[in-house]
Amino acid sequence: MSKRCPRCGDTGYRTVAEGRFAEGRVCRHLQACPRCHGEGTLLQRDARGYEVITPCSCELLSVARRVGFYDRARIPARFANSRIDAYEARDPHGTQHRARQLMTQLAGNFRRGDRGLGLGGAPGVGKTHLLTALCGYFALERGFEVRYADFADLIGELRARFEQGGGAEALVGTVVDAPVLFIDELGKGRATEWEQSIVDAIISRRYGRGLSLFFATNFAFADDDPNREPLAGRIGERAMSRLREMCRLEWISGPDGRAMAAAHHVEPVQAKKGPRGMSRIS
Ligand SMILES: [Zn+2]
Ligand SMILES: [Zn+2]
Repeated sequence: MSKRCPRCGDTGYRTVAEGRFAEGRVCRHLQACPRCHGEGTLLQRDARGYEVITPCSCELLSVARRVGFYDRARIPARFANSRIDAYEARDPHGTQHRARQLMTQLAGNFRRGDRGLGLGGAPGVGKTHLLTALCGYFALERGFEVRYADFADLIGELRARFEQGGGAEALVGTVVDAPVLFIDELGKGRATEWEQSIVDAIISRRYGRGLSLFFATNFAFADDDPNREPLAGRIGERAMSRLREMCRLEWISGPDGRAMAAAHHVEPVQAKKGPRGMSRIS
């Protein structure tokens, strides 16, 4: 019992980047379970002498179910190995440390229907890494039915449905209704009136049904940053005000070259090596 599986570290699964989307694999060690021989179930006799099918303690069925959620999440393949603890916080203002902390808390404590999180920041601060890591964790470790969508892909998919004459009904039964939805690059694109009306419909629909939402965006949450276009201008004021209710909004600052050099004098190793070293030992 004490020997760890070298392939999966006893999680029972691995994640792989083979096709367009990340996929999970049930680890071989479960298929070689000496009790159920890869069936996942056992035929046992209960107290009254009836034969009943019970899940094997190897949890093959549970792992297979969670791997299924992961496969259907449609996380881009190149983020198949995103892990929250592998996210390296590099900013001197501490917003990246904070984002990682928040993600770690959400990973363990989030319940379906809870308020989600919106990550804002310039490209390159690792928003997609954090978002995909949490999405994968929810599927594989928490057993949540999740969906991950790039905003532009989502709009494209819905446009096709609307063009087939679906009207507002075109949203029904799509990714928009996923119990927990992750949208990356929210607000990207041309922000036409039509696109805005779609975003408004998506957010209103989830808002009305109390469905959790997580997202990332390059646009500003507040309109007081003169260097950055506000998200409200891209998705509309009504959608923005609903987002504020549905999601905690966190801005992640980008690494500033000079400030980074100064910060490295103060804490040269801890920030980088701590979490990595720990995950290797555990
Ligand atoms: Zn294994
Ligand atoms: Zn078994």
